[in-house]
Amino acid sequence: MNKDLHRKAVILITIDALRADHLKCYGYHRNTTPNLNKFAEEGKIFLNTITNGPETPTAFSSLFTSILPFLDGGYSPLPSQKISLVQLLRENRIFTYSIHSNPNLGRIFNYDRGFDVFLDGERYKRKSNDSIKQLLSYHVKKILDSNRLSSKLIYRLKGFNKIKLWLRKKIPFLTEILLPFTPIAYNAPYIVSKVISFLNNSKKPFFLWAHFMDVHSPYNPPAKNVINFREKDFSISEREFLTNKVYSMSLEVKTTSRMIEDLKILYDAEIHFVDEYLKKLIELIKNRFKDNCLVIITADHGESFYEHGLFGHQGSVYDEILKIPLIIVELGKKPIEKDIKDVVQIMDIAPTILDYFGIDIPENFQGSSLIPIIKGENPIRKEVIISECYQKNRLMKRNRKEGLILFAIRKHEWKYIFDEEKEAEFLFNLKSDPKEKNNLIGENPEKLEEFRIIKEYHLEKTTTTSHEQSKIIKAIGMSNLNKTK
Ligand SMILES: [Zn+2]
Repeated sequence: MNKDLHRKAVILITIDALRADHLKCYGYHRNTTPNLNKFAEEGKIFLNTITNGPETPTAFSSLFTSILPFLDGGYSPLPSQKISLVQLLRENRIFTYSIHSNPNLGRIFNYDRGFDVFLDGERYKRKSNDSIKQLLSYHVKKILDSNRLSSKLIYRLKGFNKIKLWLRKKIPFLTEILLPFTPIAYNAPYIVSKVISFLNNSKKPFFLWAHFMDVHSPYNPPAKNVINFREKDFSISEREFLTNKVYSMSLEVKTTSRMIEDLKILYDAEIHFVDEYLKKLIELIKNRFKDNCLVIITADHGESFYEHGLFGHQGSVYDEILKIPLIIVELGKKPIEKDIKDVVQIMDIAPTILDYFGIDIPENFQGSSLIPIIKGENPIRKEVIISECYQKNRLMKRNRKEGLILFAIRKHEWKYIFDEEKEAEFLFNLKSDPKEKNNLIGENPEKLEEFRIIKEYHLEKTTTTSHEQSKIIKAIGMSNLNKTK
C-alpha cells in the first residue's frame, strides 16, 4: 500500500444542476457564491469542464466509474462490471462516507457500492428491509404525491411555505421529519450538519462525498436569499406561477424574458443559500485539515433557462447543460496559476482522486488524472469529449430499450450533436457561436464527416465492454487511438 495514503483525505462536494456560468468566478454578474469564490482563490478553477452526461444518472455514472454512460452495460442502474471509484478506495482501506438525497443515486441504482456509510435521503422506493419510519415516510409521500397534493400544500396553504422556510433554516434536523412534505429531502443545513459531525470525528484516510439538491428545481429559496438579487421577495402565488406554470412550459403561458429572469433569480437565490452553508463547511475543513486534503467542488450538469426553448436539464446537450463548475483546492498549497483553460471532463474526477491517494488507475478508466495540472504541469489533454444519454420526448430514459440516442461530441472549437429522435444533426463553431444558435451542418462537410466517424466508432463500442476494448487496443498497440476517440 502507498505510504502516503494514510495521511490523506478527499472531500467531494457535488451540487445538483449548478451551471458554471452562474458563479462569479466563472464570470457571472451576480455574486451567487461569495464563500465559494473566496475558497476557489486558494485552488484551481477549471473554466472549461464538461459533463459526460446531461442528467444525474449519466453524469454520476461517468463521475464514479470514469467510463462513458453508453459503455459497459449502460448507466442506470450502475452495472456490476462498472467498478466504482469508491469500491477501489475501500479496497485500499480508505474509509468512505456519503450523504445525498437524489432519487437517481439511491441504493436501488447501486450507488451505495463501496461506501462504508451511505446516508440515503431517497424515500421514493420501497425496500424489503425498510424500517417502520421509512415505511411511514414512504406512504405519506405517496399520498402527498397523488394529485400533486404536496405542491398544493407547499404553495397554497397560507403560511406553510414561510413555516417550512423558517424550519429549514433554524432547525435543520427537522428536515428528516418534514421529509414527506418537501421535494428536497436532505437540504443544505441538514447535509452540512451531518458532514461537520462526521469531519469532527474523522480519521485519515477517508473519502467523503456530499451531494446538495437545493439548487435543483423546484426552486423555493428562503426570502433572505432572494432579496440579495431583487428588491423584495416573490409572493407565494408568484413563486407558484414561475416554478409550476412557466418552468413546466404550460400552454396557458407565453414565456417572456421577464419570466425567465425571475426564474433565474429564484435559481440564483438557491445557489446563494447553499453557499451560505458551504461557508461553515469550508471553515471547518480549513481548520481541521491544514494539508494532505483535496477538496473538489463540482456539479453533475447545468440547467436550461430557455436558451434553446426548454427549462430544466432533460432532453438537451447544449452547453447550458454540459458546462459545469469544477474547483479543486489542495489544502496548504498555494496555486501558481488559478484559472485552468484546458477542456476537462467529469470522467477525470475519479482518476484524479485515485492518483491523489497514490492508487493505480485502472486501465479501462477513460478519464485522466488532473493532478499534473494541479501541480502546474502541462500534460497533453484528450481532444475529443463525448456527452450522451438516452431520452424520449425530451424526457430522461435509463436505457436503449426505453430511449433514443442524444449525443454530443466536442473537439477543439467544434461541437457536433446527434439527435436520434429528431433524426437531426447539428454542427456548431463554439468560438464564433458559443450560444449554439447557428447550425453549420450543410456548410462544412469535412468536419461533419470527421464527427460522424467518431460517432460510429463510439456507438460500435457500446456492444463491447471497455475492458475488452482496452485489451484489443493494447494488443494492436493503438493506445493513442483510444486516447483521442
Ligand atoms: Zn442532477
